[in-house]
Amino acid sequence: MDERFDFVIAGGGHNGSTLAAYLAKSGASVCVVEARPECAGGQENTEPSPGFRIDPHATYLYGGAAPAFEQLELARYGFRFVPYRSIFGFVTSAGAAVNMGSRWDQSIGEESLRAVMGDQTPFQGLGQLLQGEALRDFLRSMFWTAPYPADMDIEPSEVPWVQCLKKMFGDILPDNALDMSLVELLDMTVDYEPLKVAQSMAAWYCGAHPTWDGQALPSLAGSLLMGYTAGSPRGGMHAYAHSIIRCALAHGARIITNSEVEEIVVENGRAVGVRLGEASATPGRVIRADKAVISGVDVSQTFLSLVGRRHLDVGFAQRVSDVNFKGGSLYVASVACRELPRYHGNPEFFRDEVYPSCVVWPADSYENLYAQTEDVYSRKKVPELSPEICREHLSMMVCTHDVYDETRCPDGYRLLSPIYVQLPPTHYDVDGPEGANKVKAELTKAVLDLLADGAPNMTGDNIVDVWVNTPYDSEFRNAGMVAGNWYGARQSEDQWFSNRPLPELARYRTPIDGLYLCNHTSHPGGLCLMAVPYNLMHILIEDDLVSPGPWWYPSPWHVTDADRRLAEV
Ligand SMILES: Cc1cc2nc3c(=O)[nH]c(=O)nc-3n(C[C@H](O)[C@H](O)[C@H](O)COP(=O)(O)OP(=O)(O)OC[C@H]3O[C@@H](n4cnc5c(N)ncnc54)[C@H](O)[C@@H]3O)c2cc1C
Repeated sequence: MDERFDFVIAGGGHNGSTLAAYLAKSGASVCVVEARPECAGGQENTEPSPGFRIDPHATYLYGGAAPAFEQLELARYGFRFVPYRSIFGFVTSAGAAVNMGSRWDQSIGEESLRAVMGDQTPFQGLGQLLQGEALRDFLRSMFWTAPYPADMDIEPSEVPWVQCLKKMFGDILPDNALDMSLVELLDMTVDYEPLKVAQSMAAWYCGAHPTWDGQALPSLAGSLLMGYTAGSPRGGMHAYAHSIIRCALAHGARIITNSEVEEIVVENGRAVGVRLGEASATPGRVIRADKAVISGVDVSQTFLSLVGRRHLDVGFAQRVSDVNFKGGSLYVASVACRELPRYHGNPEFFRDEVYPSCVVWPADSYENLYAQTEDVYSRKKVPELSPEICREHLSMMVCTHDVYDETRCPDGYRLLSPIYVQLPPTHYDVDGPEGANKVKAELTKAVLDLLADGAPNMTGDNIVDVWVNTPYDSEFRNAGMVAGNWYGARQSEDQWFSNRPLPELARYRTPIDGLYLCNHTSHPGGLCLMAVPYNLMHILIEDDLVSPGPWWYPSPWHVTDADRRLAEV
């Protein structure tokens, strides 16, 4: 029953599958062991009703700058990209409806912002910025570069992504930008509150919370990822996952599904394989790894249940259990309807051919953002649901893809998928992990009422069906989606870059010899960017475990451990 591979990957989510493709293409023998009937994890689409392809988790492609598109040649394996003429817009109760367009059509954004801001619009030049190589370099230096060792002696201003950012923004960037929150940065640079709210909301759903100190630039970068890509995979995120999985298989990777890893087998302090659990297709089977075991599962489960405390230093185990999941736990609704929301205000900017794929409503003032933050982070409860309070306590993201990708729903229908609202992480909800599930019906009614408040056509016969998953449901359907949190662990200063998820784990290596991490609880965190596996490849190459062919190119900003020692000398 024992089988041997060079690498065994526990968990075939986005990151585990992508690493399998990288390793297999490098000529290594690889086995992916996945608990669910199919790989891809949060990169999933489901059809709750025939033809309606909804997004229970990941929805947008943020990874347009990923080297893996070229390196893994995903187009050969079925990946197709659909550019969106408008990726983002926002609506206020006062009747402004602003369509920001996208890098593929900048005129709509300029016109639409000018209608509400006059000549104060900060738009000039933004379009060029969004498509330039400078932006791609900045994104790659921040996301597609392994974090530096936490103890490396480097001035924060010398970190490459800071330098790339300065090259892009020049003097506009304040000297203390590295210490600021996004809200502080926006207050210094933008003079129209709804735009600041919309940008803050976008940041909250793309990265760090906009009020967290020292996270202004990572927050902003999250939304720049979306701006740079400005589109999504044809057929949805699962189609993208399929191209990755097909690439891995084409290069000889072995994928075993319906097989939960019960244990990462550690012998004499070294990870040597995985043991499958009782509920697996072949219970008790051991799959051995000659070179390394890679965990594609979150950091807590990896150490506290798969490795087990008996192999860990007590202090290390405690630090792992202290990793914080605050932020990013989402309520997700998908609404099948006959017409798209017709928001009040400036309907000419929301014409079908340029309809914004993602709309923030209501984007009135910071008060909504703060009230919601207080509810989900401080009171740790589902926000107040009465109609009067709701308008001031909830802002939501209302997304649709079918305007640009006709594969998403049947002719004659429209699909709003997803509508996102931030909720407390299941772990911390004062009403228990199922807190949001207990009020699911009320919450859904509040969300639909709020939507109809901004778009009066979203009532009656226009709504055909509604499907909902809470953070608890996300966690339940996907064993890897801890706390239903889309970035796995809080993206705060103390859990980001060289501190993510803990300083000693930031380079994907672990205290267990032969065990590496490849999940969104490592840097750069959530999103299907193919970044964690790309960064990890650098470390595996450095550790002499893999040697890819000429198709591989490393991050020009990568620092090896040898470089660090040199710097210290
Ligand atoms: C509501 C929501 C919205 C999101 N929106 C976006 C978005 O718009 N764009 C975007 O790019 N990303 C988005 N994300 C984030 C994205 O889905 C995740 O960051 C990504 O899926 C992380 O990939 P991963 O491989 O690290 O983890 P996962 O996708 O969680 O994969 C982990 C895998 O490990 C498996 N597993 C767990 N335990 C075991 C075990 N013991 N044995 C074997 N297998 C196991 C799981 O079944 C799973 O397949 C969203 C997430 C959520 C929840």
